[in-house]
Amino acid sequence: MQLPDLAALSAPYRLVCIAPHLDDAALSLGGVLAAPPASAAPALVITLCTAAPTAAYNAVAREFHGQWDLESDDIVGQRKREDVVAMATLGVDFVWLEVLDAIYRCPAAYHSRETLFAAPQADDPLIPFVAGLFATLRRQLPQAQIAVPLGVGEHVDHLICFAAARQLLGDAAWYYEDIPYALRPGALERRLSALDGRWTSRPMAIDDGLAAKIAAIGAYRSQIGELFGGMAPMASQIRDYAATVAEAGGVAERAWRVAP
Ligand SMILES: [Zn+2]
Repeated sequence: MQLPDLAALSAPYRLVCIAPHLDDAALSLGGVLAAPPASAAPALVITLCTAAPTAAYNAVAREFHGQWDLESDDIVGQRKREDVVAMATLGVDFVWLEVLDAIYRCPAAYHSRETLFAAPQADDPLIPFVAGLFATLRRQLPQAQIAVPLGVGEHVDHLICFAAARQLLGDAAWYYEDIPYALRPGALERRLSALDGRWTSRPMAIDDGLAAKIAAIGAYRSQIGELFGGMAPMASQIRDYAATVAEAGGVAERAWRVAP
């Protein structure tokens, strides 16, 4: 079910996944989110960057658009239609917060891969927005487990979510491994080595959720070519990684906790 906004929050969600972009939740936590049918409390996906851009596109936006499999100029509209299918496939509730993606929000600052996959600008409006979001969630959903990006890959939108969660939620949050970035050799280790605090991993078995996860990722047709080179390589890379992070056989997704 799609919620119109955060004011409509009422269900006793077991898990709330913060997704900077349309696809992050399915890619990183799709298996955990895909609840077995008998599960009582549903999960909620909150996606931040879902607003339609109005400014002229910068160089890196044009580069991405050239790599995506787009049907028309309605880029965000297409990605939202994909998201509706993916969320239904996972069986989760979801809400879009209609913030602009970094490449559209601050086109002069985040104009290249080097500036986009790097620390945020101090005056980036997403920083206070995410802080307000976490305050709202703590007030309205005090029982829910909140999952946020660990920041593997250093995409600025992921780093802003991580920093706010680290400051406002601390050891209460789950920090999920950002896929596809975590698939790259050494990327997770590089991210962990840059963090303060003592971090421990928490693999979560997804033997019952892997098929739904792969199907949900497959719904993001515009992104599959750029991220994986096709549906079959996507499925095999997702399956292989899930097997790698499972400590006791089977398949898993992995989140991290920081010591208090
Ligand atoms: Zn993302």
